[in-house]
Amino acid sequence: MISAPRGTRDILPAESWQWAFIVRTASQVMDSFGFREIHLPVFEHTELFARGVGETTDIVEKEMYTFNDRGGRSITLRPEATAGVMRCAIENNLCVQGASAKLWNWGPMFRHERPQKGRYRQFYQIDAECLGIAGPMADVEIISLSLELFRRLGLKNLEVVINSVGCEKCRPVYRQKLIDYFSAHKESLCETCLDRLERNPLRILDCKKEECGKIADGAPDIFDSLCPECREHFAQVRAGLERLGFPYRLSKRLVRGLDYYTKTAYEILSGNLGAQNAVAGGGRYDNLASAIGGGKIPGVGFACGLDRVALVMEEQGCSFGEAPAVQVYCAALDEASRGDVQVLTHELRKAGISAECDTAGRSFKVQMRNAGNCRFACIIGESERENGSVAVKDMKEGSQESVAVSEAVRYIQDRV
Ligand code: ATP
Ligand code: MG
Repeated sequence: MISAPRGTRDILPAESWQWAFIVRTASQVMDSFGFREIHLPVFEHTELFARGVGETTDIVEKEMYTFNDRGGRSITLRPEATAGVMRCAIENNLCVQGASAKLWNWGPMFRHERPQKGRYRQFYQIDAECLGIAGPMADVEIISLSLELFRRLGLKNLEVVINSVGCEKCRPVYRQKLIDYFSAHKESLCETCLDRLERNPLRILDCKKEECGKIADGAPDIFDSLCPECREHFAQVRAGLERLGFPYRLSKRLVRGLDYYTKTAYEILSGNLGAQNAVAGGGRYDNLASAIGGGKIPGVGFACGLDRVALVMEEQGCSFGEAPAVQVYCAALDEASRGDVQVLTHELRKAGISAECDTAGRSFKVQMRNAGNCRFACIIGESERENGSVAVKDMKEGSQESVAVSEAVRYIQDRV
């Protein structure tokens, strides 16, 4: 038996209609905010992520699915969407001469992580990016967009956590402060954090280990190092959130795993997920475009974990709308009626009514059992064939009526 690779899973019909509801809702929310959908490749040149996400990040160092293709080029299955969206905007000149672009997409991402609840190697994200706008109102729009999505999905007990990670002017100063601070606490840091100390000290703030966390709590506050521009930007973002009535918590330890972030970083946490508690994360990335060779295009965006959102919705008993059901089941009483039954099914479908019939030669009894989930059953047997009629059974009421074949579609249309 060949099984699916570790960290991947099959999304079967029992779950896939819930996913469809989430994506449909996302699509409506994106439309209502003026974001347009794009479709991107799931693999890109490795360089895009190495340069865009950052060489010293966990994603690039440990988590990417990278291989040489048959032409000897290094290819990577996308671990996240933002770098690809920016590549797309640069390549298609979407942000030339001050133009901005509001884009969204959804699909699978790939990271070689240790699989656990809410953490998979192939997982799905809904992603929105606002490119070409440097001001803080765009940050507020993005946070507001993600919260509106969760509001419409009915998610409860969410917490918005925000921070500013500064910019290329003020971060080096802060970085040095962190190196000095953590160097004095080397003995309490884990292996990974010791390794991060010189290369990416900001990531120590994000360490989930208890000992490192305690040290990180005492680390210098980035807020004290922000340059006037970053400080003002952050104040504006906070004021914007307050105007819209969104509560948030400030966390100096929120740095996010990707190097391209500048200024605003945020996460939306759910109390229902245990250790994997982030349902969405995002922020501003004004240096991403130049890191991948595309000049100066500021951007802000977020990615929401579809797998985790579905998990939380299930646990919180949120509604996924109506489960899909076929309206009419057409059943044949005898062998000779099967052809007429398929024709009637076809006519109903053409009229926009969902309909099914048996194609496996099953008995009338089994057909009627399957009809149990439908609103109506249309039954054809010998006598119906003889007088050109259909027996229409109301599966809710149990009542039955004889209707002329030519009238059957209209009869059902009037009642569903
Ligand atoms: P975490 O801290 O949980 O590892 P992250 O910071 O690596 O998350 P992002 O890169 O910000 O995650 O991705 C945005 C969202 O995608 C996360 O908030 C989460 O909901 C989801 N996500 C990230 N990695 C995974 C994964 N391996 N499996 C399922 N969902 C994931
Ligand atoms: Mg991660």
